[in-house]
Order: sequence, then C-alpha cells, then structure tokens
Amino acid sequence: MTPETPVVTRFAPSPTGFLHIGGARTALFCWLYARHTGGKFLLRIEDTDHERNSQEAIAAIFDGLSWLGLDADEPPVMQSSRAARHAEVAEELVKRGAAYRCPVTPQELQERRERIELLRKMHESKDGDGLSHEERLELQELSKPFRSPWRDPAKPLPDGAPTVVRLRMPDDNTFSIKDGVQGFVRVKGSDLDDLVLLRSDGTPTYMLAVVVDDHDMGVTQVIRGDDHLNNTFRQVPIIDAMGWDRPAYAHVPLIHGPDGKKLSKRHGAQAVHEYRDMGYLPEGLKNYLLRLGWSHGDAEIIPEAQAIEWFDVDGLNKAPARLDFAKLDSVNAHYMALADDTRLAALFLARPEAVGLSEVAKARVIAAMPHLKTRAATVAALAEASRFLGDLRPIRLEGKAAAQMTPEGKARLAAIAVRLEALGDFSEQAIKEDLAEYCAAESIGLGKVGPLLRAALTGGAPSPDITLVMALLGRGESLARLRDQAE
Ligand code: GLU
Repeated sequence: MTPETPVVTRFAPSPTGFLHIGGARTALFCWLYARHTGGKFLLRIEDTDHERNSQEAIAAIFDGLSWLGLDADEPPVMQSSRAARHAEVAEELVKRGAAYRCPVTPQELQERRERIELLRKMHESKDGDGLSHEERLELQELSKPFRSPWRDPAKPLPDGAPTVVRLRMPDDNTFSIKDGVQGFVRVKGSDLDDLVLLRSDGTPTYMLAVVVDDHDMGVTQVIRGDDHLNNTFRQVPIIDAMGWDRPAYAHVPLIHGPDGKKLSKRHGAQAVHEYRDMGYLPEGLKNYLLRLGWSHGDAEIIPEAQAIEWFDVDGLNKAPARLDFAKLDSVNAHYMALADDTRLAALFLARPEAVGLSEVAKARVIAAMPHLKTRAATVAALAEASRFLGDLRPIRLEGKAAAQMTPEGKARLAAIAVRLEALGDFSEQAIKEDLAEYCAAESIGLGKVGPLLRAALTGGAPSPDITLVMALLGRGESLARLRDQAE
C-alpha cells in the first residue's frame, strides 16, 4: 500500500438475524473513516452459511443500514456468488506449495478432539489413575496445533479419497500486526493449525473467503470487532502466501451491557430496528454509537459533518464501552430538539401511541411540535409529552386535582372562562395578561389559580406552562375543559 492508495473500508455482516447495534457501530466506523479520507465504504454480505442465513436477515441489514444513512458506495457483494474465485485462489495456493490436499476426514478430526478431551479429563481427575507415560506423551503431541501427515509432499494421497485443501502453516514464521486499537500483536506460525481453506465439497471456508474478497474489493482498512482478532492471525498467512498487501487492521472492543458483561438479551434491545421502534432518531443513535467506542476529547454531541472531519482510527477506544440508556436518551433528546417539526409529526403519527387520536387532536399535536420536541427524549416519549393535547374530555379528576374543584374553585373557572371567551386574540401572551388582570382584580396571586387551571385543562398530564397549554389547546377546547369542571 502506498500513501496514495485510496482508502477502502468494508462492512461484512453474516446475515444470521437482525442488524446488531455492535455491527451497526462497526459499519458506522467504517463509513466515517471512508468519508473522512475521501475513500470508499463497501458492503459485503457473508452469506455462505446456507443453514443459518435468510433473505429476511439480509433485508434487515439493508434496512438498518439505510435507516442509519450508512449507504455503501457500490452495490453489495454477495459472498456466495464468489465461490469459484475462492476455489481458484485455493488452487493457486496449492500450486505455490503454500497449501496441500489432505484426506483427513472431519470424522477423524472429531475423534482426535474426543481423544484429547478424554486424556485431559483423565489427567485432571483426582481419583483416577492419571496418565501413563505413553498417554502423557500422546497428549503432549495431540495438544500441538494440527499438522496433517499429508503436509509432507512426498506422502501419496489414497486413491479416490475426498480431500480438503489445507494451508501449510509456516512453522518458523512469526506473524505480527500493528493493530490500530490493540497495538502490536504477534503469533507464531507454529502455534496455529494447518487450517482448511476449501472443504471436500469445494466450498470455501470463512478464512479463505474473507481474505480473497477483501483483496479483490481493494480493502485497505479492516475495522471489526475484537472477537475477530484471532481470525486475523489465520488470515494473514493466507494473504502473505498469495503475496498480497495486507490491509491495516483495527479491532474494536465489543459493546458491553450496563453491568460490564458482554451485551446480551437480558440487557434489552440489541437490534437496530428495536431502537427505531423505541423512538430513537437515526442521527441520535449514530452519535451515541460513535461515542460508544470512539472519542474526541470530551465532545459528546458530534453532528455528522463534525464526525466526518474528526473521525480517525486513533480515536478508537481500547476498553470496552458500556451501554448507557440515560446517555443515549440525552443525546437523542438533543437531536429531537433540532429535528424538523413535520418530520417528527409524521414519525409520531405513524406510531401505535397515535392510533385512535381524533383528527382535531392530531392537528393540535402537529401544531404543538415546536414545543413538544424539546420535552421528549424520543419519538415515543412524544406520546406522554402530548397527552394533554389528546381527546381527554370529559376529564375525570382524581386525588389532588379533584381536590381543587371546591365551590370557590369552580366559580373561578367559570369566571375565567367568560373572560377568555371575550379575549380578542387567544395567544399565549394575551392569555397571560388576561389572567394577570383577573388575579389583580381578585387580589389573589397566580399561584392560587395555576394548579386549579392545570387540573381542569390537563387532568394532571405532563404539560408546559399553563398559558401555553391553553394556547396550544385553542380557545374552543380550553373553554370546554374549564366549563366541564366548572359545572
Ligand atoms: N462476517 C463476519 C461477522 O459477521 C465479519 C467478518 C469480518 O468483518 O471480517 O462476524
């Protein structure tokens, strides 16, 4: 790779379920790095496991990425369509002597593993006899990385036996990589198995397919979860054997739950679509995921353009980040307040919480959006913040709110309703002035009528300042609610 080589990053999910937020975060890092460097972001669907892959899972990946605005710069590569090319590279490796055909069957390997397990158990058992000298030597030998007898080019293959293609792992090489997150990491070839590249049915293994596809797609920077670090040491010898340039690597720690344990079902939502359903905005979730594993000083709110300018592999954190829902809410709240009113209204009205609202109530919610959006952390929370605007009449008061409705209270509501009916302009300001006038005339403080009005108008639902509540409800609905209680 020369300094002029354009940066190419890729996101390479296996379509086994939904788009995980960990995967989305990886995709975001790859996308940002490509945007930051003026390079390309590519998508590869690793759909070679036909038993576990599904069309729905592929659709969920496309859907999640597009919701987050992480579109790839080229049509996605379907790994399954490249099997012939993977086989071709395996053949080339055999030709070069870097790989060999091996007739050892999966069954034999399974027996080998079982034998190791048995010997280990015998070795560890306290009341057993332990191991004989021969068995101890056997266990030592079996515990070494797998080397097939057919690694020796002189050993003839049995006639007609099915064979796999295996990498001839170089015994005296040490593979070291400078990982963008983990720093220098090295592994000796002698500590790695002669791994399978091509199965006996001619299908490629994951290790081979990833290497070939990354090479052919021109990938220069791999960013992925650190659960893949061990795979990297199995992939680098393949790359080296082909004489290809290695990409740069950055293995990011996985996302942990609030308790510091690896993120799992019991921590709650893991899928991107669940966050969408909970009412988070894509820009809010993106900003939060960016900060979950990457930092730039102590900046928390990092709009996309700023993220593109700042993002670099250097800022990726080495310690696993913990999911923090309160933080996610506060980041999302920031983007709610900035979001376009019409967009928020459309998102809200499409939600289950909005089902059954009358057209009049919907119109009230739409008109009130500039006020509501500053009080709701998510689109779902708009339901609670806008409850006072709903079809509440007649409101049945309880507890403290009901206690406000004394004969004196009811008389005040009736008097205020008369004044408000005559008010020329039903604006927040005009209502405020009129209420002040009423209080002055009655020689009472606003504190005397505030809770009374609030009870009558909202029944205790969360709501802004009472004069704003009336302006948002409109004259007709405000007067109706006051009169419902006055009577
Ligand atoms: N397909 C792999 C996964 O979903 C990722 C492969 C890679 O990033 O190299 O875990």
